[in-house]
Amino acid sequence: MKKYIMSIDQGTTSTRAILINSKGEEVFKAQRPVECLYPKPGWVEQDPDKIWISVVDVINELLIVSGASMDEVAGIGITNQRETTIVWEKKTGRAIHNAIVWQSKQTQKICDRMAEHTDFIAKRTGLRLNPYFSASKIRFILDHVKGAQKRAEDGELAFGTIDSWLVYKLTNGKSHMTDVSNASRTMLFNIFEMRWDKELLKLWNVPAAMLPEVKDNAADYGEASFFKSGIHVWGVAGDQQSALFGQCCFREGESKNTYGTGCFMLMNTGKSPIRSKNGLLTTVAWRLNGETTYALEGSVFIGGAVIQWIRDQTRWIEDSSDSEMYAEKRPDTAGVYFVPAFVGLGTPYWDDDARGAIFGLTRGADRHNITRAALYSIAYQSKDVIDTMERDAHLDLNVLKVDGGASQNNMLLQFQSDILQCEVRVPKCVETTALGAGYLAGLGCGFWKSLSEISANHSAAKCFFPKMDPNQAKKLYKGWRNAVDATRAYKPIE
Ligand code: ADP
Repeated sequence: MKKYIMSIDQGTTSTRAILINSKGEEVFKAQRPVECLYPKPGWVEQDPDKIWISVVDVINELLIVSGASMDEVAGIGITNQRETTIVWEKKTGRAIHNAIVWQSKQTQKICDRMAEHTDFIAKRTGLRLNPYFSASKIRFILDHVKGAQKRAEDGELAFGTIDSWLVYKLTNGKSHMTDVSNASRTMLFNIFEMRWDKELLKLWNVPAAMLPEVKDNAADYGEASFFKSGIHVWGVAGDQQSALFGQCCFREGESKNTYGTGCFMLMNTGKSPIRSKNGLLTTVAWRLNGETTYALEGSVFIGGAVIQWIRDQTRWIEDSSDSEMYAEKRPDTAGVYFVPAFVGLGTPYWDDDARGAIFGLTRGADRHNITRAALYSIAYQSKDVIDTMERDAHLDLNVLKVDGGASQNNMLLQFQSDILQCEVRVPKCVETTALGAGYLAGLGCGFWKSLSEISANHSAAKCFFPKMDPNQAKKLYKGWRNAVDATRAYKPIE
């Protein structure tokens, strides 16, 4: 009897697995941390074997804790930290270099050398030239491991993002595959024609023989024979796209915002890829039955991390979750604006040189006001991104679906609703990333028959509606823009 879908969420800091029942509810969960290695300043790597071991561990733990057997699982879904790159030997399945993690800056120089191709790359991939994406990471591995380029050309090596690596391992090396959402983040995939791009491969000097087969998000990725189960992997998606799917943002204009360390926003833009004029990324959301849905993506570098800063640098609070109670001690910010440009500003400013600032201090402004201003900054920055999306896509947002650690903060979400003047909705199951891959796997193997069946199960735990007068919201937001302008105008002494 098939009772569950198993979904694996392989993230940068941890690997999680959940069992989902037919009502779309998370019924069991297991989690393991994953270690990051920092071989040099700015470099971030992981041991591919340890990533795989963490997945084996969470699957075993899940089965043990739940008492479920593999026979009760209808299909497996995988979602993953995107862009992180592994190259391995096809014959032995052994990686030839550590995984280079998406955050790693070790390929900055390789990207700098490609600067003249920035526009061409954007036209084919929808991405900004940046070390985040996989192409420069593959280049780095092929350049730094002796003989690797030749072996890749001879067809001996395989490249994959984490999803490919896990599918390869789970299927005992039978499937070398990826899905369209992960492929769209490699900087080698033409998102308009939906295929590996020969000219991009040439530009990066990446042999086509290394590349995985690209599949729909709900499709047969092969039997997870490592577990001698007869169960197949039926769903794969990159983490942000998976969260968009897990939030049931199936229709054009529907959007989600994940409030983690940074904030990641995706808007479903339907069947047409929209080229942003304001620095948003154009990306593949998913492809189902051969039909592609696109998304616009924007990010805020410092989201929940501004609260970590308050916690660690001022010690006014002990835990991030105390920030709500602490800020609520005052009804407003007393005119204070906090611009947390600790590492520059992302969408739509793209200003690497900006640094953080606090404005509007008076003798009466206290730590509670400042903490409130820090929380507001998360909402203001999210509005910056959402406004940009609305402009680029010519769409109006009615509801923002939210998740991530800081979405536990009711004050933040009420203010987000006020400043956007739209509904903000928190889902019942907060593991939206894992849920998305689970939904995809369920669609793939027929556990659920349609998107509407999935939506029918999906429900909100909390909804926030605007309470603030629209003119007041406008005024406050104008103050934010002024604060950002002032922050960017400041030039430190060289
Ligand atoms: P990530 O997946 O990026 O590591 P999480 O989704 O776990 O992050 O969210 C953690 C972030 O959210 C931290 O930066 C933390 O400061 C912030 N955070 C967690 N809980 C709250 C809260 N109740 N209020 C405000 N910020 C919070």
